[in-house]
Amino acid sequence: MKEISYPIKEFFYSIQGEGYYYGTAAYFIRFEGCNIRCSWCDTKESWNIKKENFITINQILNNINNNHHQIKTIVITGGEPTMWNLHPLIKKLKKKGHRIHIETSGSYPIKEKYVDWITISPKKIKLPLQENYKKINELKIIISDENDFIFAEEQAYYVQSVTNCFLFLQPEWNSIFNVLPKIISYVKKNPKWRISFQMHKILNVP
Ligand code: SF4
Repeated sequence: MKEISYPIKEFFYSIQGEGYYYGTAAYFIRFEGCNIRCSWCDTKESWNIKKENFITINQILNNINNNHHQIKTIVITGGEPTMWNLHPLIKKLKKKGHRIHIETSGSYPIKEKYVDWITISPKKIKLPLQENYKKINELKIIISDENDFIFAEEQAYYVQSVTNCFLFLQPEWNSIFNVLPKIISYVKKNPKWRISFQMHKILNVP
């Protein structure tokens, strides 16, 4: 039987720079493939799926084992990782004792079994599936202009009945000097939101 494989852009052990777990060590697996194509995307190199970048689950596990660090949390990110059937990979990672976090736009089905933390960052051009809102642990809205605050509230409406769903507003990196003062002011007026910041870019780590 053919082994399951996935197109992986890169893996690296680093510091989570965003959201609830910012500042914590995590091993990132960045999947290739994303058909959303946000204009400000900072991982554009992961959009296209390259045949030569498919690797098997065992190769992924070996890469983790060969990394000489105490890896606990694995962050599955992209691209859009939920385009792929992640279940077989996640099941094996869980067996090895890892904690699994997923970062997604929420626009594809999410099989949440064995997943410890789901971050959904909705995109206007391809909204999350309704079924995914109830699975969210962390809703992260990228703010590049003032219209994004309206979008943020629309999205927060869908998770208002989800217990312990944290709400984050994150400045789009290239607009940060313009939008950060507005986000600070907005969070002061609407304290259900927190600010997420791409700390890894300040720390200069991947
Ligand atoms: Fe980039 Fe994420 Fe937008 Fe896809 S959904 S284009 S990976 S920011």
